[in-house]
Amino acid sequence: MVTDGTWVLDVGRCVFCDACARACPRDAIRLGHRIELAVLDPADLIVSRRIRGRT
Ligand code: SF4
Repeated sequence: MVTDGTWVLDVGRCVFCDACARACPRDAIRLGHRIELAVLDPADLIVSRRIRGRT
């Protein structure tokens, strides 16, 4: 999800289907093998990144 130039992903809800990576027109998303899902607070599974060039 992108809101106000910020990309947000709840990894706790991701099923690793690879659909987002295949659909991305800029090849900006890639699924890797390194992931940490063992957390005490589910909020720690929400990842966000500021998109360059956006305010
Ligand atoms: S791999 Fe991408 S499209 Fe599939 S569930 Fe995870 S975030 Fe959604």
